[in-house]
Amino acid sequence: MKTASSHTPRLTRAQRQIHLLLEQADETLTAQTIHQRLKARAQPIGLATVYRSLRSLQVKGLTQARALPNGEWAYGLTSDDSHYLTCLNCGTSVPVEDCPVQSLEEKLGQSSHFQIFYHTLEFFGLCAPCTGQLETESP
Ligand SMILES: [Zn+2]
Ligand SMILES: [Zn+2]
Repeated sequence: MKTASSHTPRLTRAQRQIHLLLEQADETLTAQTIHQRLKARAQPIGLATVYRSLRSLQVKGLTQARALPNGEWAYGLTSDDSHYLTCLNCGTSVPVEDCPVQSLEEKLGQSSHFQIFYHTLEFFGLCAPCTGQLETESP
């Protein structure tokens, strides 16, 4: 867990709503899911605006995105430094307990004078049920 940055950038209403939704969610969400959840809360925001707001939130260093095997992006907060093992067959994602690259991020930030907002680290393969299933299916 990283601590949230001390300054809060100014956000539009849509950006605030999306940020709040991600804060309350206990998982990363796709733009489609964000779009649907806001609609269910009677806070409808067009899908194009959801994408635009997510992009703005990313540049402000508040949200991060990771690519899912199906080509969609899942969004979360940068304060949530979590990594996943993802099954390429069924798409199941399992969180990885520790982040092994936090010190590397700090080092890079100091040596490159880059303001680093987040990093991604992903593991892909087959989950246990899929491994068993594919083994019995193969000739
Ligand atoms: Zn699987
Ligand atoms: Zn990490």
